[in-house]
Order: sequence, then C-alpha cells, then structure tokens
Amino acid sequence: MAFSKKLKQLFFSGQKKNNWNGLINAYKPWLPVTNKTPIISLNEGGTPLIEVNSIANRIGKGVKVYVKYDGLNPTGSFKDRGMTMAISKAKEDGCEAVICASTGNTSASAAAYASKGGIKSFVIIPDGYVAQGKLAQALVYGAEILAIKGNFDKALDIVRELSEKYPITLVNSVNPYRLQGQKTAAFEIIENLGNAPDWLCIPMGNAGNISAYWMGFQEFFNANKSKKLPRMMGFQASGSAPLVEGRSISNPETIATAIRIGNPVNKEKALKAKESSNGKFSSVTDSEIIEAYKILGKEEGIFCEPASAASVAGLLKVKNDVPMNSTIVCVLTGNGLKDPDCAIKNNDAIFHTGVEAEISSITKKMGF
Ligand SMILES: *Cc1c(COP(=O)(O)O)cnc(C)c1O
Repeated sequence: MAFSKKLKQLFFSGQKKNNWNGLINAYKPWLPVTNKTPIISLNEGGTPLIEVNSIANRIGKGVKVYVKYDGLNPTGSFKDRGMTMAISKAKEDGCEAVICASTGNTSASAAAYASKGGIKSFVIIPDGYVAQGKLAQALVYGAEILAIKGNFDKALDIVRELSEKYPITLVNSVNPYRLQGQKTAAFEIIENLGNAPDWLCIPMGNAGNISAYWMGFQEFFNANKSKKLPRMMGFQASGSAPLVEGRSISNPETIATAIRIGNPVNKEKALKAKESSNGKFSSVTDSEIIEAYKILGKEEGIFCEPASAASVAGLLKVKNDVPMNSTIVCVLTGNGLKDPDCAIKNNDAIFHTGVEAEISSITKKMGF
C-alpha cells in the first residue's frame, strides 16, 4: 500500500508526537539514573502549557499568562513526576515496600507507581481530610491505608520515624529523588516558551515543588538553555501559611486540603529559592482561591483542584506588582476531578433538578 507523501508526513509526525514515554526517558542526562535503573513509569510529564487570556486580561499591561496543567499527569497531579523517580530508585535499591504521609495526592501517586513496580505501599492520611477522588485512587491502586486521628504534619512525623526503624522507603518530598523528578516541569516550560518565564506562580504545601522548579530553572540556565531565571512567587492559603508568617501553624485550615500543612519539611530550600530568585511569598484566602477556581473553569475550560487555583488567585492578588509585558506561568498542580465535593459546593451553574421528562417542562425551564 503506497502512502502519499503528505499522508506519510502526517503519519510519521503523529508517531513522533505519541512517542513520549515518560520524563525519565525524556530527561535522562539530567537525572540521577543509570542504565541499571529499572524505569517505573506511567508516561508521566509532557503536560500542556496553556495560555489563559481571561487571567491576562484581568491584569492588563501586555502580560502573557500561561498555566502548566500538571493535573493531566497519570494520577492527576504533579506528584507523578517525583514518584516515577522515587519508585524507580527504590526498586533499583531492592526495596520491597514504600510509605508516605499524604493529604491525598502523594498517596494516590505512590500507590499507583508502587503497584506498577511490584512494590507494596502503605499510606497514612489525616482521617476525614482527604478529597474523595484521591481516597478512591489509593483504594483502587491497592495501597494499604491507615487513616489517623491527626493532621498531615503528625502523619509525616510518624512515617519519618517508621522509615528509620523498619526496612521501608519513605517517598514524601524529603526523599531527594522526588524533587529530581519534579524539576523536569521547569525544563518543559523552558522548552515550550523558548526561555524561562519572568514569574513562576506556585502553591506551597510542604514546599518541595517550588524547590524542585527552582533547581530545574537553575540547571537549564547554567547550561545556557534559558537566558533568564524567573522570580519564584509562592502562595499559601491564609489559614495555613507558615512560610508567609514565618512560624509553624499547629492547626492549619483551608478548603485547599492539598496545602493544609503547618510545618513544611522543605522550608529551608523554599526560602533559599525565594531569596536567590528575588521572589515573594504571599497568602490568599479561601474565597480568593474559589474565585480563581471558578474563573479557570468557566472562562478557560480548565478544571483544577482548589490548592492549584491558589497560584492563579495569588497572581491576581499581586497583579499591581506585575511588570509590563511580562510572561507568567502559574502551576496547576492537580486535577479538579480529585475533589468533586468542592466542585459541587462551589460553582455558579444553573442546575434544574427533578425536571419532568417532557419537552414542554424542559423548554419552560430553559426560558423558551
Ligand atoms: C502536593 C500538592 C501541592 C503542594 O506541593 P508541595 O511540594 O508540598 O509544596 C499543591 N497542590 C497539589 C494539588 C498537591 O497535590
């Protein structure tokens, strides 16, 4: 069968596009892996950078705003970037079980990658504070789950102690391989834009991701793959803002459960990223988070989870400080489907229930 030249080109360019097989394969020379490392991958990474004019228009000044939609990773959050590295290295080291404390996304990701790698996973979560979608994932991916009567910070203390005393690998972001995998998101942004952005806006919980991005931006800058470094703009929820207030918070509260963390383990690294990038940390209220969450959904067709919307809410809050004509990237860390309860409680939809199954009743409701 003969292909026309045009068809052939289309076919093969399509092939190339579908050739993505995970971030370890894409960025091997930049990662601490060898030919002996078994690559445990679900083809994570390679997520889209999407221009969001509804946000740029609210700022004006000729700015360009993009979102890095990392909610499109295999388990629906950026945690997969770190987990492919952490689980591959755990497998290489012959480990048979992993453990993590989690507000939900780390447990979903750890459970999925551990299953893929044939490793057992234990997850410790704060009872009653994990979004439905995340809990569903951990159950289906086959983790053993312990829901404790305590918050995330307590759960993290426990898993740190357990991993010191028992032969079980900790895969929270204190595991250095997590940040190595996560830094690849900065590489992708630079490759998409042809340079680093002027600002990188990102939500902070344990502050591993902001630290990882900063590492990635610096590595590509030092290798002349970008001509500038971004200012790192970190955002926390106002009821859970230890990095903004400069003190641990013993009872953090926010609708954005993924960043409901009072004592971030990567505090030092995050403060260094802020200082060396001339960045800034600020907080946003839950209602500002929900406002941004709704704008992204209604005006951009992008559904993210509330913690992710903190990056956009933060940008809108500090819009007066945005320089003219700058390029800004906001990181959308997780998928909106993770937290259906939040979506159902916080939207402006017109939702008629109990409508009679007749054309006349329906058109009446529709206002025809
Ligand atoms: C984990 C997580 C965060 C916070 O990332 P850190 O590295 O802990 O700062 C933000 N948003 C979502 C959706 C997350 O899952």
